[in-house]
Amino acid sequence: MSGQTMRIGHGIDAHRFVNGRALMLGGVHIPYDRGLMGHSDGDAIAHALVDALLGAAGLGDMGHHFPSNDPRWRDTAGVDFLGDVARKLHDEGYSVVSAHVVAVAEEPRLFPHLDAMRTAMSQALGVEDGVVQIGVTTTDGMGFAGRGEGVAASATVLIARQ
Ligand code: MG
Repeated sequence: MSGQTMRIGHGIDAHRFVNGRALMLGGVHIPYDRGLMGHSDGDAIAHALVDALLGAAGLGDMGHHFPSNDPRWRDTAGVDFLGDVARKLHDEGYSVVSAHVVAVAEEPRLFPHLDAMRTAMSQALGVEDGVVQIGVTTTDGMGFAGRGEGVAASATVLIARQ
């Protein structure tokens, strides 16, 4: 470990369901009758991971880099933000050692899509298999996620540089 700097980061995001949008989570289109509201694509899983990575590197947060009042980021895919942030970390000499995201959703059922999300986000970050892990949980019917009003996600990352 000598000579190596390691940093932990944590990110949280939530978006509400609205009619008339495609549901994008973890960089994957999930068939559902609603999508997530947001200036970009509302991908709470990708956004939580973006915030965790930026925070770990001491680069601020998503709102700073991709402000929601900037038309450049309208409808931007969460995986595109991830690719952008991966380049920022690379420029700082960091590599992603480990990333773990937990999504909170009562519906739709996300479990069948976790492998595809892992692949999409790993490709966006340019990391090998096993670095990105995703899980999903419910809140036993409690709160906004439990009522099916939206989706939340929490991400933890470990990054390192020599
Ligand atoms: Mg967001």
